[in-house]
Amino acid sequence: MINKFARYQVSLNIDQIFPKLESGLCSCGCGEKLTGRQKKWYSSNCKQKSLIEFYIIKGDSQVIRDLLFERDMGFCRSCGVYDEKWEADHILPVYKGGGGLGLENYQTLCPYCHKNKTKLDRIPNRSYIHTPSFDIIHFPFERLRTFHKNILEDIV
Ligand SMILES: [Zn+2]
Ligand SMILES: [Zn+2]
Repeated sequence: MINKFARYQVSLNIDQIFPKLESGLCSCGCGEKLTGRQKKWYSSNCKQKSLIEFYIIKGDSQVIRDLLFERDMGFCRSCGVYDEKWEADHILPVYKGGGGLGLENYQTLCPYCHKNKTKLDRIPNRSYIHTPSFDIIHFPFERLRTFHKNILEDIV
C-alpha cells in the first residue's frame, strides 16, 4: 500500500496506516482505551496528529513544507545558512526507497547544498545522516486549518 519508490502515495487512505484496532485501543497508537462513543480516536488531538502524519506519508508537499519550516526555520541542515529559497530534501532519496516516510526523512537544504547532495546521492552505498525526530504534537494545528481553508478558497 505504500510505494517507497514513489513521491506521492496517491491511493493511500488513512485507514490503511491507522486501522481501527481490534483491541479497542485508540488507532493513533497512544495506548488509550476507547470508551463510550469513541469509535476510533481517544481524543481530537489523537485524530489530528494521525491526520498530519497521514498527509506527510502521502507526500502532501504543503503540509511537509509547513512542518519543515516549523522545525528547521529555513536553515540549511548541511551548511547551516538561512536561505529564503530553502528546499525540502528527502534524506533517503525516493529513487532509493525513501518515499512514503515520515518527517524524519525530510530536511531543509539551501538550493546550493541540495544540488550537491543530489550529485552525492548518485554515489553507491553512501550512508545517510538522519535528523532528530520531530515531535508532531507541537505542530500548530490552528495554522494548518487556516492554511487549508485558504487553499479551498483559492480553488473556489
Ligand atoms: Zn490516541
Ligand atoms: Zn546549504
